[in-house]
Amino acid sequence: MTHHGDALRSGETALKAQLPENAGLSFVGVIHTPFKTRDDCPRQGDMEGPDCTIELDPRLEPALEGIERFETLEILYWLHKARRDLLTQSPRSDGAVRGTFALRSPLRPNPIGTSRVRLVARTGNVLTVRGLDCLDGTPLLDIKPDRCGYTVQAPPKPAG
Ligand code: SAM
Repeated sequence: MTHHGDALRSGETALKAQLPENAGLSFVGVIHTPFKTRDDCPRQGDMEGPDCTIELDPRLEPALEGIERFETLEILYWLHKARRDLLTQSPRSDGAVRGTFALRSPLRPNPIGTSRVRLVARTGNVLTVRGLDCLDGTPLLDIKPDRCGYTVQAPPKPAG
């Protein structure tokens, strides 16, 4: 995906002043993917895509208890390289302009990304998953059982 530097594209608008800060989030880990640049990243993850790893802070490992029972998870992450001031955007550079909240663009006031992923394996505090679209080194915000898969019990995974 081509990415915005400071220059706005035709029809795009940006916020003039910063919004006040409110929530204090804690990063709970880091995500490793084969995607080293934004252009390497898919626009959305694919559960048939490459293996990625989610490295949870080892102090939080007990919070993974029971995760292996789920085939699909919802991952929330902080798109740390995204600018946060765009109100309207032209993501495909094709002249079509939309509001930020009408897009899943990474460029948003709170650059939170979400993906549904397939859980491949767990080794201690590290989950191997497929379905992410973020840069290698993207900070992790949260892990939840996928809402649709919440009642579905996956076959047991090898313990790590
Ligand atoms: N799946 C998430 C969602 O829908 O909320 C994110 C979708 S967003 C379109 C994915 C794009 O964000 C990638 O193709 C890449 O261009 C960009 N991106 C990925 N990781 C990023 C990061 N850490 N900081 C800024 N941009 C990132």
